[in-house]
Amino acid sequence: MAGEIQRTGSTNRPRVLYLSHAPEDIYDVVRRMAGDEVDLVLMDSNDDAARCAAIADCDAVIVASYRLTGTHLAAAKKLQLVHHQGVGWHDTTDWQTIRDRDIKLAITLSGSTISVAEHTLMLMLAACRHLSHADAELRKGKWLVNALRTRSREVMGRTVGIIGMGRIGYQVAERLLPFGTTGLYCDPHVTLDAATEQRLNMHKTDFDTLISTSDIVTLHLPLMASTHNIISKDIIDRMKPGSVLINAARGGLVDEGALDLALRRGHLQSAGLDVFEGEPPSDDNPLLANPACILTPHIAAGTRDALEQKLAAVFDNIKRFFDGQPLENEINLHQHQD
Ligand code: NAD
Repeated sequence: MAGEIQRTGSTNRPRVLYLSHAPEDIYDVVRRMAGDEVDLVLMDSNDDAARCAAIADCDAVIVASYRLTGTHLAAAKKLQLVHHQGVGWHDTTDWQTIRDRDIKLAITLSGSTISVAEHTLMLMLAACRHLSHADAELRKGKWLVNALRTRSREVMGRTVGIIGMGRIGYQVAERLLPFGTTGLYCDPHVTLDAATEQRLNMHKTDFDTLISTSDIVTLHLPLMASTHNIISKDIIDRMKPGSVLINAARGGLVDEGALDLALRRGHLQSAGLDVFEGEPPSDDNPLLANPACILTPHIAAGTRDALEQKLAAVFDNIKRFFDGQPLENEINLHQHQD
């Protein structure tokens, strides 16, 4: 029944809400990973009033794709811990309220990194070969054996610019190694040591140089106030003609309208996008009808492997915290500004 909440167990074990409304096969994994040491609360509809009612008596909440808002937090009188199922907490939690209420916030390092890095490589290859367009046209009876020949490119020999050399950016660099690319990266907080830079053929540079000299630009940084539309119209205009943009980080990093126009006028060759400013994108988002885009529905970390690893780590950490042991992968929100 819509709005009803599924509860497992009824003891004084920590009561943990899984905030997203998910299909039953995902709930099966959640239940399996939760075990019987927590009192698990699952939503059986995507009803926000029911969600606020559900969180009221919960000790912890697990945040995945659905954003934890100030309204949820106002209803969550007993909440001690917000556990993100992944790493992208900046834009999926009202972290200012979490900080002001001294609620703990932890993220999950297991799981997402390899999955997103693999997806990024797939988007790069697919965007360079116009894979979605070729597939869609073939199904309509169009055999583009020559039509794409002068537009498709190989990855080998290209300069790939990685914006954000964190966990995922680094694994993308590792996976580019066999492709024979030249790498550039920029990151205000990370500088690889010289031996690693040499091994990966990756060189640190500034944002402007990376933008103007890369054949493929790939985004692996968080969405924050300071990075919203970091790939603006002005920056897109400064990208190398014929270059490719990959975004498996967050949609809000890119001015989608400007990207669409740059692809349509041929300034950029193609784009591979797993994420959108609004998710799911509205029907009138021009990128949906742009044949130069490879689009996926925010599934870069959406593998069964990643789900199982992430949930196992989440519940281990939740149990550890409520057993009085130190919380792992806690975000120190009092040091966070952006
Ligand atoms: P991370 O924290 O390890 O790395 C992010 C890096 O970005 C950091 O090194 C940081 O210093 C750098 N950075 C911050 N501001 C920057 C700027 N202005 N310019 C350049 N670099 C900057 O995080 P991660 O695990 O590598 O994840 C990166 C992002 O990927 C997450 O924030 C999340 O939004 C996104 N993500 C997407 C999916 C998906 O399913 N598509 C899954 C997981 C993560």
